[in-house]
Amino acid sequence: MRVTSAAICGSDLHLYGVLGAYLRRGDVLGHEFMGIVEEVGSAVGDLRSGDGVVVPFNISCGHCYYCKRGLFAQCETTQNRDQGACASSSGTPASTGRSPAVRPSSSAFLTRTSARSNCRPTVKDERFSYLSDILPTAWQGVCYADVPPGGTLAVIGLGPVGQLAVRCARRQGVERVLGVDLVDERLAVAARHGDEVVDLREVDALHSAIEAVQRGGTVSISGVYGGATDPMSMMTLFDKGVTLRMGQCHVRRWTDELLSLVAAEDDVLACEDLATHRLPLADAAEAYAMFRDKRDGCKVVRQPGLG
Ligand SMILES: [Zn+2]
Ligand SMILES: [Zn+2]
Repeated sequence: MRVTSAAICGSDLHLYGVLGAYLRRGDVLGHEFMGIVEEVGSAVGDLRSGDGVVVPFNISCGHCYYCKRGLFAQCETTQNRDQGACASSSGTPASTGRSPAVRPSSSAFLTRTSARSNCRPTVKDERFSYLSDILPTAWQGVCYADVPPGGTLAVIGLGPVGQLAVRCARRQGVERVLGVDLVDERLAVAARHGDEVVDLREVDALHSAIEAVQRGGTVSISGVYGGATDPMSMMTLFDKGVTLRMGQCHVRRWTDELLSLVAAEDDVLACEDLATHRLPLADAAEAYAMFRDKRDGCKVVRQPGLG
């Protein structure tokens, strides 16, 4: 497959920052990419050369105990047992037992989007590229929040996933959606697609969620986490009867459902109102710095022409 575009994810920024020490020469960053099938092996039955494909960041076999249950992030075939960790992901350092430069070789890893021989990325390609991670992550996060009829969902953090979570919540019929962040530009974008925004400066998202959630409510945690967090108030969690749901996104579990929304003529999830910068690969270093610093309210930095 020839990669035609890729996006920088918030989790790439961990490797750009504090986890950079784990990187080794030859590691290739990035796990949100799409491209064109160049050649297919004899075991690949449903793809042809020239197909446009987007690649879920989870590397999964598609047929183990967990994959059969839609839990692709826990795939038994690619689990990192020596690390006590879940399924492998693209673009994570070899030194952590994960997979650096991913070489998709099985159709189980690919989601066909459209048959195209044109390898130039288009705005519509950009929509499909979000199926690799951030859109299914947002969708799962909203599903896991299990908002009851008449309930309210507060999305804390309005980066790319948070922005899409606001829109997914509307799509899933959540009656009241609050967007919470501390970056003016991000609040402005969320205000275009949600009901209300809340400007919350200097806040610890997880603790705020536990404090804010209604008694008997659910806190849904998306993204990627490592290490430990500050002591959590078990008294509050228990007293309020809070349900906690979390975990890496099972990308492939949601992509069939989301594909039709992404492909819809009227762009129901407003995917075209997300990317703020489109840059060539040569500017990747600057793109990482820009995304880290949230300059210009930067939400997503993409790199068309990569490859
Ligand atoms: Zn990502
Ligand atoms: Zn599997």
